[in-house]
Amino acid sequence: MTEFQSQLKKYAEVAVKVGINLQKGQNLVIMATISAAPYVREVVKAAYEAGAKDVFVRWDDDQITRIRYDMAPMEAFEEAPLWLARGFEEMAASGHAFLSVLSPNPELLKGVDPKKIATSQKVNGEAMRPFSNYIKAGKVSWSIVAVPNEAWAAKVFPDLDPEAGIAALWDQIFRINRITTPDPIKSWEEHIKTLHDRCDFLNEKRLKKLHYRAPGTDLTIELADRHIWLGGAKKNTSGVPYTPNLPTEEVFCAPKKTGVNGTVKSTKPLNYGGQLIEGMSFVFENGKIVDFKADKGYDILKNLVDMDEGARYLGEVALVPHRSPISDTGLLFYNTLFDENASCHLAIGSAYAMNIEGGTELDDKGLEEAGLNTSITHVDFMIGSEQLDIDGETENGETIAIFRNGNWAI
Ligand code: ZN
Ligand code: ZN
Repeated sequence: MTEFQSQLKKYAEVAVKVGINLQKGQNLVIMATISAAPYVREVVKAAYEAGAKDVFVRWDDDQITRIRYDMAPMEAFEEAPLWLARGFEEMAASGHAFLSVLSPNPELLKGVDPKKIATSQKVNGEAMRPFSNYIKAGKVSWSIVAVPNEAWAAKVFPDLDPEAGIAALWDQIFRINRITTPDPIKSWEEHIKTLHDRCDFLNEKRLKKLHYRAPGTDLTIELADRHIWLGGAKKNTSGVPYTPNLPTEEVFCAPKKTGVNGTVKSTKPLNYGGQLIEGMSFVFENGKIVDFKADKGYDILKNLVDMDEGARYLGEVALVPHRSPISDTGLLFYNTLFDENASCHLAIGSAYAMNIEGGTELDDKGLEEAGLNTSITHVDFMIGSEQLDIDGETENGETIAIFRNGNWAI
């Protein structure tokens, strides 16, 4: 076995054991891009080794996705495949675990009619809502991992030839995911404990508000009543721990839907549905985005915030130190899974029900009543930098330094 094959196998084991923490006799569903097949085969093996009853793979192909956007008529994007949405809902209801294997091409849909993309995202978001609710409420175990491809590697390493670029991106992904440590599973357990300790600290403080200050940013975010900070592994509603994103460096919470005021500027480009948005800033009043700008991709951003009512409000506030294995690479990954874990971020759209006490018992109406935002979308954007300071304000008015110069101050 080559060094690479051995690392690929370990990366598959981490996805199965740390990511979804597959249980004996459980079924696994993998959503993957066809270019990631060699890795997916290792995941399938690792899943059966861990006692999976069965493994189902749903493949996508980037080239076919692009062909469809270029050639299919507009009507094709106005209808979601309901059979697929029902199938996913049924699999979630019967307790399957879900793993997404991304192999993102950051500019797959560059130049495609934005109306097709916006319509497709909206229609699919609505059709998949029952399934997404299982995911957002943590009723099922799920995780996301990523695998390099040529187009992505070329974006991250523009100076390298394709083969060297892919190798360099694999090296980074293995390192960031602790695959290069002597015992990756143990390294993950230690890392998860660090994140849990941070959450414990923040949960004990019962913060009412966070104040963000950085160049172009002066923002106040009220946290939801009965909020819970989460990070690392979480427990699904059956009590089984799982780690939703690999890598993960964040601790995150639910903002109060109507409690966001001020201005915030993004610090990294956002890859949204195969297109890039750069240089964003937002103005909030009582939680609502009342003004926004983008140096590049303004129309794409406009389609996003106009997707539904909830796309004008925030659903997540996440803290990530500027010094982390990902930001230490100094690389821009043009992919949210990596870039969000290198930077403090906020999410436009739905909040996670598990971020408030009793939230997973509530439907969308109940979540709104509890002060949380609901939407068919959830898109993270990055606001962290070494110039970011964050203060927390407790219920009795005490101010605590949470971040200084982009890193934890606690
Ligand atoms: Zn996040
Ligand atoms: Zn998010």
